[in-house]
Amino acid sequence: MKLKHIEHIGIAVKDINESIKFYEDILGLKCYAIEEVADQKVKTAFFKLGDTKIELLESTDPEGPIGKFIEKKGEGVHHIAYAVEGIESALAVLEDKGIRLIDQKPRKGAEGLDIAFLHPKSTHGVLSELCEKK
Ligand code: ZN
Repeated sequence: MKLKHIEHIGIAVKDINESIKFYEDILGLKCYAIEEVADQKVKTAFFKLGDTKIELLESTDPEGPIGKFIEKKGEGVHHIAYAVEGIESALAVLEDKGIRLIDQKPRKGAEGLDIAFLHPKSTHGVLSELCEKK
């Protein structure tokens, strides 16, 4: 399995517009895309920093994964995403090694990437995502 870089860090926020102000006005980054991913019940906002993006996630439904996360833990880092070469084979290798997969097969995430999540119980507490641009 070959990881290339950290593709993005996903951060759960209550109010995406309020949060964007912090990243733009205080940190000086520029939000270059806002996208709703209906499948995940989230609205996302992206900032680029080197090879890595910051992905803000606001829930569009309290029953969605981000809504539940915020209810339990509050705002904060939600997941780390790695850019990988050959996502299908990476998933097969991980499964072989006993890692619990949330997604057995890649699905479409924000920005048209193929993505798959690994269960935090298998990754020492960090919800981890693999992504590949095809
Ligand atoms: Zn992500």
